[in-house]
Amino acid sequence: MELVQKEHDRLLKRLKASHGIKNVDATIDLLQSARDTIASDPNQAAITLAKLQNPVKSSFDSINDNLKETHSGLNKYTKSLDKLFKDRPLPTTEHDALSQQENLINRAIAMHLLREGQFSVAATFLAEIADQKAMDNPDSTPLSPKPATSLLDIDEVPSSEIRKQFASMYYILHEMKEKKNLLPAIEWSRENREALEARGSNLEFELSRLQFVWLFHGESHAQDVRNWQAAVSYAQREFQAFMPRYLPEVQQLMGAMAFCPNLQGSPYSTIFNNPSAWDDVAQFFTREFCSLLGLSADSPLYVAATAGAIALPTLLKLQTIMKAKRTEWTSENELPVEIPLPPSYLFHSIFVCPVSKEQATDENPPMMMPCGHVIAEESLHRLSKSNRFKCPYCPNESHPKDARKIFL
Ligand SMILES: [Zn+2]
Repeated sequence: MELVQKEHDRLLKRLKASHGIKNVDATIDLLQSARDTIASDPNQAAITLAKLQNPVKSSFDSINDNLKETHSGLNKYTKSLDKLFKDRPLPTTEHDALSQQENLINRAIAMHLLREGQFSVAATFLAEIADQKAMDNPDSTPLSPKPATSLLDIDEVPSSEIRKQFASMYYILHEMKEKKNLLPAIEWSRENREALEARGSNLEFELSRLQFVWLFHGESHAQDVRNWQAAVSYAQREFQAFMPRYLPEVQQLMGAMAFCPNLQGSPYSTIFNNPSAWDDVAQFFTREFCSLLGLSADSPLYVAATAGAIALPTLLKLQTIMKAKRTEWTSENELPVEIPLPPSYLFHSIFVCPVSKEQATDENPPMMMPCGHVIAEESLHRLSKSNRFKCPYCPNESHPKDARKIFL
């Protein structure tokens, strides 16, 4: 893997240093100005063309050199990739449950593009899907087919709104990250104050606190009395609304002002010198924004692709073993092996029935008996045969109708 990384870095460096495009642009400029000269005075044609010869030739040479370099870099990169992944076919797709779900996959891709702020790419993607659909069903009248944007429908939010929402999320994040401008984010959190507070979110305060810190530091991070004044007057204007809920936090900020010339050595130093503050707040904002839309903070496509990449080596090994032992993978919705995913990729708690050792499903949900012990529904029926029965884990007896379904 290190080799690939090295080649990748080298390639990137070379591309950055390359003057290929600049050379092409310069040559085009040269040719255009020569054309204008000749057009305005045809008598100059011979001399202008003669003057052109050398510079054009030399720029062509350097463009060709550049191309050669890029090619050799690409070749090396491909070779290092081949070396790493040689003779390793991907797992077969016999069990590919998603191949039937074209709409879901397209939707995930379109949503991912929108989340990344690639609005024109997303629009092209959706338009091409619509064209493809129209070609596949030539009989349907052009007026009736559902527009491709219906792919983006979410339960609570109409599809036309999704694009608009992501555009505004992207704008707010852009202002925040590129221009250190928190005001659009603060305005958004204010407009959605009720919904955010209902979620117990303190986004608006977090944003306002960072705004205070940012004003305090000023553009240049210079200790300037004007910055200090700007921060304090911001606090006087804006923090009143936060007082009931965030009194201790506001007091901290105000208390810090007493240490003003030497904040670095004060107990409040971490609030004012947190290097990840902007990233944290941007992530926090994205999470809250998406959750108000009923979406997860991370792109499902990204999560699925990453989890798939993590799982790939295990799946390849599994396939080899199954081939060698000539066994089949029988359970359709369950992998026969554990895939070690990072904790942030585990979304559902899984219940395994202690009696049958089977994983609970929608058809066979976990059931809690009045004594508090939980077994799967099928085990419950098998043990009780619809009569009072003794819990397999404690002396209590109960009737299956008293058992309650558990939702994980
Ligand atoms: Zn029990």
